[in-house]
Amino acid sequence: MEEIRNMYAQMGISNAVFEYGEEITENLKERFAEIDQNAEYNQLKVLKAMQDHQVSEACLLGTTGYGYNDLGRDTLEQVYASVFHTEDALVRPQITCGTHALALALMSNLRPGDELLSPVGKPYDTLEEVIGIRPSKGSLAEYGITYRQVDLNKDGSFDWEGIAGAINERTHLVTIQRSKGYQTRPTLSVKRIGELISFIKKIKPDVICMVDNCYGEFVELSEPSDVGADMVVGSLIKNPGGGLAPIGGYIAGKKECVENAAYRLTSPGLGKEVGASLGILPQFYQGLFLAPTVTAGALKGAIFAANVYENLNFAVIPNGTESRHDIIQAVTFGTPEGVIAFCEGIQAAAPVDSHVTPEPWDMPGYDSKVIMAAGAFVSGSSIELSADGPIKPPYAVYFQGGLTWQHARFGILKSLQSLLDKKVLTVADVEKAKEKLRKSAK
Ligand SMILES: *Cc1c(COP(=O)(O)O)cnc(C)c1O
Repeated sequence: MEEIRNMYAQMGISNAVFEYGEEITENLKERFAEIDQNAEYNQLKVLKAMQDHQVSEACLLGTTGYGYNDLGRDTLEQVYASVFHTEDALVRPQITCGTHALALALMSNLRPGDELLSPVGKPYDTLEEVIGIRPSKGSLAEYGITYRQVDLNKDGSFDWEGIAGAINERTHLVTIQRSKGYQTRPTLSVKRIGELISFIKKIKPDVICMVDNCYGEFVELSEPSDVGADMVVGSLIKNPGGGLAPIGGYIAGKKECVENAAYRLTSPGLGKEVGASLGILPQFYQGLFLAPTVTAGALKGAIFAANVYENLNFAVIPNGTESRHDIIQAVTFGTPEGVIAFCEGIQAAAPVDSHVTPEPWDMPGYDSKVIMAAGAFVSGSSIELSADGPIKPPYAVYFQGGLTWQHARFGILKSLQSLLDKKVLTVADVEKAKEKLRKSAK
């Protein structure tokens, strides 16, 4: 459509980049239809949970002070438990972020002398300090909780023998990270997580299996809690907050696990009974309601990005055609210039702070400089269009989000335009990629 082309031109997208994006999109129609179907199922799943628990207008009001008898908060937690098919859930604005939710789940369910096992390699950067892999004040290590790790095999498969060998009489909790995070390993499908949990439970039935579910919610038809996970944990400023939740985290799982977490979050003796919701519940409810379709838009953006950059000969994980289990897209540029130009493009595409230039900085919790592009309505929200690039080899960026597919698409085109403007790529490279597409279509 001519109007759209003109609009893109007004927003700094050259004709070469626009045309390239058009061809990529054309090739993705079938996959996008599949994603829409998935979103439809998950939309109904969320709606059914809300109806089954009779969410009412009164649930949207908040409490203050101690927050006793907070109908909206308690009902929301039941809704989450229904969505994840768990016995209980803790969904609170007092859980400040994903790391906090994970730390809370770990610290409340482990005791001195216990051992924590990660059978899927190194966990997300910020968890290194929670566990004490990197010495840190207040870490699990300081409380006498030890940690063991079994890496994935080179081809991304589980090291079954190594895992069996690592489970011992002190192993009390197994942490499984669904998403690749800042790594280039594959993200785990719900099916593979289920296989892993079955294997572990066969060896030690009473071990608690926790899944770091960040970025994975609503990407598939089922969740890790449908295949044996005792706890799923995540952040509300990622998928399940639907872009509307301005803060928060959740833990859904076995009653005892959630109870332990509640006593740790507030206080022994108080647990889930306190914690005023203030005025935040409408955003939590409405965000969860929108989460399946918002996640679908972000997923389309990730697939679009994979195809745009794969055809330009950059290494992408996941690749352009493989199935998806989270909303993160890694693109390896191999140079700091590539990472920086990409992030500048994403920033320039934002609805907020599009006029500022992101720069690499020493972020708390990370062991190298990181450049972050985020012009979000909710600060740091990564269900909104955003990108992070640790400035260290292999110089990969991790792109995610987009509250709408249309915005994600614009952001990726803008990132490509930025690579051209910064001379990391040339127009000839884009033309060559277009040619390649045509050949493979034949
Ligand atoms: C984002 C994320 C976290 C931490 O969440 P924050 O909200 O950034 O603290 C943990 N694990 C994974 C896999 C993540 O993607």
